[in-house]
Amino acid sequence: MIFSKFFNKIKSYKEKINEFENVVSEERLTFSQVMEKNAALQLEITQRMEELQQANKSILTLQNIWSTMNSSEPLNEVLRTIAQGMTQNLGYLSAAIFQLFGDGKDAYLKIRENSLTDSMKSIKNLLNKNVSDFSVSVKNKENLLIKAISDKEIVIVKNFEDLFIGTNFDINPSKAKELKDILADKAVVLIPIIFQKKVFGCLLVISPRKEIGDTEMNFLNLFAKQIELAVTIADLFQTIKQQAITDGLTGLYNRRHFDQCLVNEAKRSLRLKQPFTLITLDLDHLKSINDNFGHSAGDAAIIGIATVLKQNARVIDIPSRFGGEEFGVILPGVDIEGGKIAAERMRVAIESTPLEGVGQITASIGVGTLLTHSDNVQELVELVDQAMYRAKRNGRNQVQIAQAWDENIWKRQALDSLIHLLAQRMIPLDEKLSEELIEKLKNTNTNDKNIDDIIFLVIDEFVNIYKPFYQRGNIKEKIELIVKVAKALDVTPEDIDKFKMAAMVFDISNVMLPESILLKEGPLSDSEKDEILKHPLVAAKEILAPVGTASNIIALLEHWNEYYDGSGFPGILRGEEIPLGTAILVAVNAYFALTSQRPYRKAFSKENAFKILEEGAGKKWNPRVIKILKKIV
Ligand code: GH3
Ligand code: MG
Repeated sequence: MIFSKFFNKIKSYKEKINEFENVVSEERLTFSQVMEKNAALQLEITQRMEELQQANKSILTLQNIWSTMNSSEPLNEVLRTIAQGMTQNLGYLSAAIFQLFGDGKDAYLKIRENSLTDSMKSIKNLLNKNVSDFSVSVKNKENLLIKAISDKEIVIVKNFEDLFIGTNFDINPSKAKELKDILADKAVVLIPIIFQKKVFGCLLVISPRKEIGDTEMNFLNLFAKQIELAVTIADLFQTIKQQAITDGLTGLYNRRHFDQCLVNEAKRSLRLKQPFTLITLDLDHLKSINDNFGHSAGDAAIIGIATVLKQNARVIDIPSRFGGEEFGVILPGVDIEGGKIAAERMRVAIESTPLEGVGQITASIGVGTLLTHSDNVQELVELVDQAMYRAKRNGRNQVQIAQAWDENIWKRQALDSLIHLLAQRMIPLDEKLSEELIEKLKNTNTNDKNIDDIIFLVIDEFVNIYKPFYQRGNIKEKIELIVKVAKALDVTPEDIDKFKMAAMVFDISNVMLPESILLKEGPLSDSEKDEILKHPLVAAKEILAPVGTASNIIALLEHWNEYYDGSGFPGILRGEEIPLGTAILVAVNAYFALTSQRPYRKAFSKENAFKILEEGAGKKWNPRVIKILKKIV
């Protein structure tokens, strides 16, 4: 009995214990389930956090890439930012961007940019060669890189040796083993980069993780798309930038770029006291090439010269087309001796390269050096231009060296202007006389003591032969007076030379006016007035431009008809804005005009002439100049 009670008690205990145990184990089950769920959640959170961080970093990296792209960096910079972004910000061990070069069967993949973290540096040592030398031809179909770009699909590399098939990198078994060890627990992925529907190349990344999950794969895919965008934009920038500095017909640099380079080169040259040489070329007789063979033959001749310039240029040279048939080359660091050799080499190359449909072409060439011929780049350009025109006049197809500006230069220019006028039959002299004069002028030495007299005499002769009635006063006297006034006003000798030249051109240009205007007795019609107003400039351009004379002489004549009070023609300048040279020339010219006889009036006396000049001082003429002029006369 007692036992049965006892057993019952025990039984009930046991039941209770069982019950309890059941509860406990149920609780335990729930507990472990909760724990498991918790752990899974924790994992998920960590993963999501990682993804978020990854995404965050990606965005930052992409932002960085975007800013690189938007700063119109060249493609190199953009690709470098991408490769470095992958290793430095996104945690990849290595990233390499391969680019496809060449066409068709000859195309090959080459590393354009690559970035390795320190832990991967041993790969570099193992390869025993510069990674940037790696290249593989598209013919190697088994190579995984080639497969990735042919299939245009992402490839996960199972056997890294497949990357080296057919390359110039030799992987021997011992190296292969080491590489295998390094890459054992890491995933290597190849992602093709497509640019405008064509393969640009391929991105290779080494991940620190063994497996590449879906999320990461999506991310890599997205990243490759960004590279494609970056390449597109960088390419666009490059094209636009190239177009902005390139001449369309020849592919040489254009004038704008050339001018920019010239300024930079001059700065460098002056700072380092190192010369640079400037060569200008002008195609000979293009007009007759156009006339005889057609415009496209003319274009072919221009392209022919461009080809020679490209072939002869060193990497640092700047061969350019100024427009039309004029070219220029900057040779940095080259002195005049080197410049002469380069120019002569170009001349010979042009002459000895006959063109299809055109035949032989030639060019006239001027060459000059900064620090040798001038320290001023603008002046150097003028001097080289003059040398080039000298080459033209001396018979074309030759090189002429610049001559530093000295007082003889204006004399040579004066002689050259006269020769040009006579040769172009702009002055209607008897043909035989013209030719004799040309011969005499050509043989006149600029060092001749009497050269001034010769020049003045010839000009006077022109004026007298052509217009015996038009007594304008002797040019020599006129120029002497100009020089005196200029000296009294502290003008530099160089500028005085230019004033002389301008005065001469103005005088010659007068005989180029139609007789009907020059000798007209009554008032001039509007169109006749117009012609007179414009003629110094027209003449200056006609006479000086082909001689390549300093453009500032043309500038002096450009404002010939401006009045001191601003009421002149074209009415752009007034007062001291009008170049002093122009003011002096105009005043002296007016003095001589007033004191000479005109078809419609007698000559004024000196006193009466100055009455008129003083009345007009401050209105027509510069009062400073009139005061000095009166004092000197
Ligand atoms: P020179 O030896 O004195 O330089 O004689 P030229 O005929 O070359 O020089 P000119 O300045 O008298 O004539 C230049 C001609 O070149 C006039 C112009 O119609 C032609 N030209 C200018 N640019 C081009 C071009 O791009 N293509 C072609 N085909 N002709 C051009
Ligand atoms: Mg020409």
